[in-house]
Amino acid sequence: MSDIETILAAPRRGRNPAKVLKWCMRPAEESVMHKTRLLVRFGAVTFALLVILGSVVSNAVNHTIRDRTLQYYTQSVENMMVLMVNKLMTAEDFSGKPFTPEKAAILDSLLGDFTFLGAEQLTATLYNPDGVVIWATDPAVVGTKARLTPAQRKALAGTTSSRFTNTPDIKAKGGQVIQYTLAIPFDGKIVGVAQADTPDYVITVQTERDLKKIQLILGGGMFLFWVALFPIAMTVARALRRQAAENEHLAMHDQLTGLPNRNLLKDRLEQAVARSSRTGHQTGLLFVDLDRFKEVNDALGHQQGDILLGQIAARLADAVRDADSVARLGGDEFAVVVPDVTDPAVLVGLAERFTELLRVPFEINNITVNVDASIGVTIFPDHGTDADTLMQRADIAMYAAKEAGLDYTFYSAEHDSNSPVKLALAGELRRALDNDDELVMHFHPLVDVRTNVVTGVEALIRWNHPTRGFVLPDDFIPLAEQSGLIRPLTIKALDLSLAQCRTWSDAGLHLRVAVNLSARNLREADLPGRIADLLARHQVDPQDLELEITESALLSDPACANMLLHQLADIGVHLALDDFGTGYSSLSYLKNLPVNQLKIDRSFVNNMSNDATDAMIVRSVIELAHNLGLDVTAEGVETADQLSHLRNLSCDTIQGYHLTKPLAADLIPGWIAGYHHRNGVRELSQDARESFRSSQ
Ligand code: C2E
Ligand code: CA
Ligand code: CA
Repeated sequence: MSDIETILAAPRRGRNPAKVLKWCMRPAEESVMHKTRLLVRFGAVTFALLVILGSVVSNAVNHTIRDRTLQYYTQSVENMMVLMVNKLMTAEDFSGKPFTPEKAAILDSLLGDFTFLGAEQLTATLYNPDGVVIWATDPAVVGTKARLTPAQRKALAGTTSSRFTNTPDIKAKGGQVIQYTLAIPFDGKIVGVAQADTPDYVITVQTERDLKKIQLILGGGMFLFWVALFPIAMTVARALRRQAAENEHLAMHDQLTGLPNRNLLKDRLEQAVARSSRTGHQTGLLFVDLDRFKEVNDALGHQQGDILLGQIAARLADAVRDADSVARLGGDEFAVVVPDVTDPAVLVGLAERFTELLRVPFEINNITVNVDASIGVTIFPDHGTDADTLMQRADIAMYAAKEAGLDYTFYSAEHDSNSPVKLALAGELRRALDNDDELVMHFHPLVDVRTNVVTGVEALIRWNHPTRGFVLPDDFIPLAEQSGLIRPLTIKALDLSLAQCRTWSDAGLHLRVAVNLSARNLREADLPGRIADLLARHQVDPQDLELEITESALLSDPACANMLLHQLADIGVHLALDDFGTGYSSLSYLKNLPVNQLKIDRSFVNNMSNDATDAMIVRSVIELAHNLGLDVTAEGVETADQLSHLRNLSCDTIQGYHLTKPLAADLIPGWIAGYHHRNGVRELSQDARESFRSSQ
């Protein structure tokens, strides 16, 4: 059963209508309810706070008013007493004798006039300094002697005081008594003490009147303030909400494309998964990775690269339903969450639509750019039941698609086997390409069988990995091909090799350098242009560059390869067919290719001494090549026996461990000198070398 069939056969989960209904509560309604609740809470809290504040203020004001009024009354009573006493009395009146009935009558009537003090309730007593009552509103106490109270003694010393105090009868009426204790000065001397008691309602009435007025103003003001708080609070809340929304947008979106970023995508995926588990639907996740974005970016510059990403984002976003979420995960990676999938065929359709849309060339400032993409697809619940697993597996599926050269693929458990290691290695290779010292070229000499002259070297890339040590090309070239890194890798190999060729040439060592191209490179229409640029930059004669293309690479897209090979030949570079004998290319096809050289695959060379068929193949290839006017190199020569055999078969060039293993660039001149010396080759002059080459 294929992946898709498995997906189609996946059981649906049961639905629960009640849960669906609850889930379906519209976000807008929820938001209005939430706002109303917040507003009511805000109103209640601020109202309670204002009531507390109001009562504290009014209490404080009440006390202040009461104190002030008491002060005012005390002053008034004092003035009144002093006035009265000074108008009516003589010093003798304070000697201890009671007043004459006339004086007492005048005092009584005068006191009766002080109605503003609530005088009808006023009781007053005048004491001489010895405590003898010389007059009182209560005639019964006149003439008696009392013990002076502390307040009265203070008054004799000149300090007037007043206080609220309780007397049982007034307290019964719910009030208090104000007791004024006053000094009575006469001719500059204090001659007695007056004590006047009035009920406090005079003050209470006055205080309450003032307080009511103030409470009315305060309460009204506070109410208006409370009402005004609402629009203020709402404006502030709106501004805060907007700010928060902006912040959230920034945190959740990709700045360049405006699409959701990885965080938001994960969020949406989690929501969709939660919803799918309720509804029994499925959720799809597509990881889209561009195949050659870095090259476009390098070639056109970051600004144009950004424009391209923007256009890609727009195309992807246009291709999906409103309910789907397109996100940019970073770099050239995009992802799409497709919720509520009832038929996985929808995901197939979407992956195909994306592929088609991305195949339509992009126009960036009048430059046409072609991009390819690889898409990995996972489905909830078949490939994972949580967002993390689905994302991880979509990534793995995407790499698997790249690896297999497919436009898209659904996740399958087989993809998992070595993917994490590969993923990590691909990431490190990407980084190594930007580093100067991790990727280096080693060179493997090619020797002319007849003359023993070293005619050239094959450049073989080496990855000096910081932790893994030396990684051999067989372990990372396929990965580079699968992960879109082969193009920058080839450019790097060409760049380093041509730079080395220039350096040797400047030192008087002329070698043709052979660089390997990969199958994928043959689909790069601009490769001939890039190579011509590099040759010009390093001032290397095109004749001194050989490009090795494997036979199988040619056969993967013959028409495209044919065209590219002709363009490369037009530049003037040498072309060699690598690993020849493994690809079953037809003679008629070979005849029309502009190649100069065939390299017999080392498996045949290695076995030629003990396998008659392989020996036959080597012989036939050499004859075939010569008949077509091509040179033949036998690679993988490991023994002297193989060498003599090849010499007998008139092979032109050999390469192999029998001569040496590939060497670092700085070892090459010394090795060549030693080899030439051992084999009696005189160093050829430049002219001799030229004539030697043209005779080939
Ligand atoms: P290739 O193009 O066939 O390169 C020859 C490989 O055979 C080299 O392995 C070389 O070290 C090895 N070899 C040469 N003589 C002998 C011999 O006598 N015995 C044995 N056992 N091996 C011999 P290396 O360097 O590991 O490269 C492996 C492959 O990686 C190359 O095969 C080539 O396809 C690829 N490669 C290497 N460098 C590059 C590069 O810069 N670009 C590309 N696209 N591919 C490269
Ligand atoms: Ca090669
Ligand atoms: Ca080879």
